[in-house]
Amino acid sequence: MSQPATRLNSFDVTRVREDFPILHQTVHGHPLVYLDNGATSHKPRAVIDAVSHYYSADNSNVHRGVHALSERATVAYEGARGKVARLVNAGSSREVVFVRGTTEAINLVAASHVRPRITEGDEIVVSHMEHHSNIVPWQLLCKATGARLRVIPVTDAGELDMDAYADLLGPRTRFVSVVHVSNALGTINPVRRIVEMAHAVGAQVMLDGAQAAPHLTVDVQAIGCDFYAFSGHKIYGPTGIGVLWARPELLSGMEPYQGGGEMIRAVSFEETTYAEVPHKFEAGTPNIAGAIGLGAAIDYLDALGLEAVAAHEDDLLRYATEAVSQVPGLRIHGNARDKAGILSFVVDGIHAHDIGTILDRRGVAVRAGHHCAMPLMQRFSVAATARASFALYNTREEVDALVGALLHARELFDR
Ligand code: PMP
Repeated sequence: MSQPATRLNSFDVTRVREDFPILHQTVHGHPLVYLDNGATSHKPRAVIDAVSHYYSADNSNVHRGVHALSERATVAYEGARGKVARLVNAGSSREVVFVRGTTEAINLVAASHVRPRITEGDEIVVSHMEHHSNIVPWQLLCKATGARLRVIPVTDAGELDMDAYADLLGPRTRFVSVVHVSNALGTINPVRRIVEMAHAVGAQVMLDGAQAAPHLTVDVQAIGCDFYAFSGHKIYGPTGIGVLWARPELLSGMEPYQGGGEMIRAVSFEETTYAEVPHKFEAGTPNIAGAIGLGAAIDYLDALGLEAVAAHEDDLLRYATEAVSQVPGLRIHGNARDKAGILSFVVDGIHAHDIGTILDRRGVAVRAGHHCAMPLMQRFSVAATARASFALYNTREEVDALVGALLHARELFDR
């Protein structure tokens, strides 16, 4: 069944795996098969080295010192911003705000952009497949302002119901915030269309790109959205660093998110003026090492070629979708026409957490739970699913190991 892992000419996965030190270990006596990349992905040596180099050679605070180390740190930190800008095809690096991650980016937009502009009876649209980080900030905002949260339904296949979305949009719609790629289903949402439809009623759109940035080429200008967020740690970069991209004219008009050093031009007790964007939104000493590591991750992806990476992951997803059908009683949740890198499933008679534990004993790491998407689990009437999520270093042989471990779990429960 399995073909050589190096089958894709343009992408040598065996060589790629050499770049990831963590992969070369055994777990419970089995080679590690890491299929929990939706939660966080591993870091190539280039990223680990970039962070280590920063601390060993350049460590200093940014934007302040006139000394050599501070200048080097600032150049590296701002260089990383430029790399992010190119990754998402931003008009300029001034449109890129460094944040802790997707969660912080969404909270920032809710607090600094939407909250001051919304009044009772206005509507915010999210979808039924959102991660909690794209639900709770809007709920908090609705609670505080009297705005109303509207929810785009999800079809049985795990796609957004676009007719229902059209019906939800209206003169009261102020803001739409939806996920680009679902972390629980793998669905790639039709974001250009979503944006066009929202703009047609005068609403602005934020996209949660946490699961999209690692798998797809993201072009914020082609998509036409107003805000885009993703997390560094899911795209082979460090934890604690993420990105908010926003249209420059929107960023300029936004209230500061947090106050402190770095985000000001001049402070007196009578009046404070703020730094230019994006620094206005980066109060305090930023995650300098994180940004530099993220820049290195982007360089690494660039060198491999995002298209080759996407083709490899598509191949794995297709292969795995077919291969898991050998497991009696296994049902996939999320059968959208357009999917990326994620296989969510339940197995009749075996709780998802038991699947997770049994697989772990075989060295196979998957996620089991509600995937921070409880409303979606309710929609599909399941408490939890098991989720295998693929990254560029995964192989068909690892999919075979997953299937072998699932068949083993089936056997244990059928005894
Ligand atoms: N949105 C989606 C779709 C996600 O998958 C995640 C992470 N699981 C988040 C948002 C939150 O990302 P972070 O925890 O890095 O802020």
